[in-house]
Amino acid sequence: MPAAPSVPEADIPDADILHVLIVGAGLSGIGAARRLQRRCPGKRYAIVEARESIGGTWDLFRYPGVRSDSDMYTLGYDFKPWTDAKAIADGPAILRYIRETAQEGGITRHIRFGLRVRSAEWSSPDACWTVTAERAAGGGSTVFRTRFLYMCSGYYSYAEGHRPRFAGEADYRGIVLQPQFWPENLDYSGKRIVVIGSGATAVTLVPEMAKTAAHVTMLQRSPSYVVTRPSIDRLALWLKSRLPSGAAYRLARWKNVLVSMFFYQLARRRPEQMKKRIIEMARAQVGPEFDVDTHFTPRYKPWDQRMCLVPDGDLFQRIREGRAAVVTDGIECFTERGVKLASGDELPADIVVMATGLKLNVMGDVAVRIDGRACDLGATLAYKGMMLGDVPNLAMTFGYTNASWTLKADLTAGYVCRLLRYMDRHGYAVATPRRDPSVLPQPFLTFTSGYVRRALAILPKQGSQRPWAVYQNYLLDLFNLRYGRIADGVMQFGAGAES
Ligand SMILES: Cc1cc2nc3c(=O)[nH]c(=O)nc-3n(C[C@H](O)[C@H](O)[C@H](O)COP(=O)(O)OP(=O)(O)OC[C@H]3O[C@@H](n4cnc5c(N)ncnc54)[C@H](O)[C@@H]3O)c2cc1C
Repeated sequence: MPAAPSVPEADIPDADILHVLIVGAGLSGIGAARRLQRRCPGKRYAIVEARESIGGTWDLFRYPGVRSDSDMYTLGYDFKPWTDAKAIADGPAILRYIRETAQEGGITRHIRFGLRVRSAEWSSPDACWTVTAERAAGGGSTVFRTRFLYMCSGYYSYAEGHRPRFAGEADYRGIVLQPQFWPENLDYSGKRIVVIGSGATAVTLVPEMAKTAAHVTMLQRSPSYVVTRPSIDRLALWLKSRLPSGAAYRLARWKNVLVSMFFYQLARRRPEQMKKRIIEMARAQVGPEFDVDTHFTPRYKPWDQRMCLVPDGDLFQRIREGRAAVVTDGIECFTERGVKLASGDELPADIVVMATGLKLNVMGDVAVRIDGRACDLGATLAYKGMMLGDVPNLAMTFGYTNASWTLKADLTAGYVCRLLRYMDRHGYAVATPRRDPSVLPQPFLTFTSGYVRRALAILPKQGSQRPWAVYQNYLLDLFNLRYGRIADGVMQFGAGAES
């Protein structure tokens, strides 16, 4: 007999069991709720959100210039046109868009704010998850019971970023900052700034801070691919001026899906050609004097890691103006005045920003138990990149690494609704993708970036073939998730509660 969930019955706030509990009120959670309302209108659902506000990433990150690095025609929801002029959008505009979606759909009243989910226990006899969420600072806990658990908790820790430690930090007299915890009202005008890192955050911060700082140096150990893209999508705006907003949005979305897939495929099939082209483009923008070989020529192939996008070439422009510079070197130690480099040079700095990356986590660090047994998520196999082998009635959102996150999040939400409707039609209460022991586990993500490599052990695995393979390919996923059979022989169904 499996152990019963260790939750006292009296703690359950509502005698009714939810049909769906969504964890996370970010871009994915709000999109999931909207789709659930539309496709499964009879379902009783709630959203649990650890923070006091909607928006996730787009509410948490407040550093100067925070913006998307993919276009909003694909980062926006498929059901809600993005109407701002800028396709590469500022963080606050994205936050408004998510909040507006929640308001329009009447979703906000379904959200329970300030509750961090700590554990989720599945009971087969009850065909139900018991989910325990805690309030911050000893504020007690709340228990939810739900038939289906839908994790929209993002992919990284909100509590900490990746923060390497350097010798001599204690001696440094200036300010050390992390982008994830940006202090409100920090005045950096006239200051000398060093930004450590070469990823999306660094290439955003450097040109923005360089507008008013005395000087900004991007200090990188090794270069990334930096690609210029217009912040405004002229074709999308032209379509908008001629067509109804929904039709224009759909066309712009498809155009951007196909264009980005084309360039991704080209990069994978002809990496040398693509590398040459990207480097030539950088050279044309920074000018002949600049050492592009050292600072903008990565050692890896295009799309082995996510590309860094700079809208309208703003980073290159600041470099041309002399307001920003790039240094490619190791860090020896911090000194009183700044950062001493492996080459022996010293970079004086009033502020050092550690744009050293995110710390990935899995399913919001929730401890999952199935019939009393702890489930090691790092040992599970992802089914269609969104459910887990041998884990009943649970889906998670994990977006694309080579395209906008929402493209996959939308497909995942659509699939969850299809699954729930199928279960209702056939009188099933439980759906479990049954793992095939002959499918060998492979890494969930193939990126070589540090933040991915550091997390490979804790991420679920994927298999080499359908339905266990994780495709970073919208068209394949569209076909599989929107039109593929729900009862595919791998998904096993059960009637439900024994009692
Ligand atoms: C600075 C930055 C820029 C980005 N730009 C892009 C981009 O341009 N294009 C792109 O495709 N992707 C981008 N990303 C990735 C981005 O995170 C996703 O696009 C998207 O915002 C993820 O949405 P989400 O709702 O899945 O996760 P999140 O935005 O991370 O939201 C998750 C929510 O779940 C809550 N939560 C987590 N764990 C728990 C728990 N245990 N209990 C209760 N609540 C919990 C969190 O508080 C949060 O509100 C960017 C990421 C960052 C950090």
